[in-house]
Amino acid sequence: MNDDLSLYIDDILNALGDSSEKEVSREELEKELKKFIEYGVPLDHAKQTLIKKFGGSYVPPSTERVLVADLESGQNSVHVLCRVLHVSPKDITVKGEARKIFYGILGDESGSISFTAWKDFELEKGDVVEISNAYTKEWQGDTKLNFGDRTKIEKTDESKIPESIMEPKEYKVKDLRSGLGAVEVTARILELNKREVEVDGQKKNVFSGTLGDETGKAQYTSWHDFKLKEGDVVKIAGGYIKSWKGIPQLTFDEKANVEKVESSTISKKDIAPQKLLLYELVEKRGAMDVEVEGTVLEIRRGSGLVMRCPECNRVLVGTECSIHGSVEGVEDLRIKLVVDDGTGVVSGILDKESTEKLLGKTLDELKKMSETKGEESIVEEMNTILFSHRISLRGNALGDAFGITIIAKDAKLADIDVEVESERISKELEELS
Ligand SMILES: [Zn+2]
Repeated sequence: MNDDLSLYIDDILNALGDSSEKEVSREELEKELKKFIEYGVPLDHAKQTLIKKFGGSYVPPSTERVLVADLESGQNSVHVLCRVLHVSPKDITVKGEARKIFYGILGDESGSISFTAWKDFELEKGDVVEISNAYTKEWQGDTKLNFGDRTKIEKTDESKIPESIMEPKEYKVKDLRSGLGAVEVTARILELNKREVEVDGQKKNVFSGTLGDETGKAQYTSWHDFKLKEGDVVKIAGGYIKSWKGIPQLTFDEKANVEKVESSTISKKDIAPQKLLLYELVEKRGAMDVEVEGTVLEIRRGSGLVMRCPECNRVLVGTECSIHGSVEGVEDLRIKLVVDDGTGVVSGILDKESTEKLLGKTLDELKKMSETKGEESIVEEMNTILFSHRISLRGNALGDAFGITIIAKDAKLADIDVEVESERISKELEELS
């Protein structure tokens, strides 16, 4: 197939996005598009017809500038005027072929957004660029700008988006999300690790770890030695946010302004897990160190005793690790469950310690039980103790295409004492009246 055709198919698929009513494959579109060409239909017209046919809405190419804050996913032929806040190359493999792509963050007077450039547009940090024919897509809950073969990028006068417009804006940790650039955060350094990496053949120290304020926790990476120490409270101005599975990561380098502030500004005890309703967590698509509560709807398959690979910790099938082959397994215990609080649903994975605590039995005791009463007796026990009971989970919430999974560091039964609760509510009502 010629490349041009493939680009038109990309456009159609982009326009259909995830919201299309009908599923359509690339092959099907190619067949349809070729039929139009055989009949001499101009490609643009054919494209428009196919987008309509498969339930998308066609938006004609626009030359009008859109502000970054107004971009929504699934837009085609977008025109923006932006300053490049950050750009990095990335080597990827597409259909077995090595390719270099670029990702980064762009900003204008309304805000900032992540982008992926599928070829080298020679973008450099600080460039002010006019971009036309870009398209937007949803990626892990955020809108992301994409530059493909049809995208045109021209450098323009830097004064059109002066750097001062992009002055860091203050954020609380809980509001950090992927694609924010020019961020200012005041937070306590909770954890600090140093590692050495090679950048362009040169050894460099990278500092990373966890930080937090009274609203939440996030990860950070510093490409410069700001002499940070665990326990420091610092104001970091000029970082940007990437995220991994919904967990925000603040990245900054020597261009950022990092200042120590009075450590009592955020005391250690101010930093507690974020208590969230499940719909909030689902909307955020993940977060670090959260505490949630809900009713156990299901104990999922894979709960109980498992054997893990001693090298990679993967769960074995029989004695086989999918990476290391036949190995001597290490015994482990876990519960996989589904929790609902009436506002949303998430999955949870509980480790050995939490499982032993909830069931009131050690791994060895459960093993004996399984030997005498059969393997399913463990899951039966889990159901008796947990099913339709309220449970409180604390841990990191990781988001992906299938939803949110809480990797629980702690779990406890949280059934409300009905009498106490009704007394509390009636008291509250009395105070209101
Ligand atoms: Zn393994």
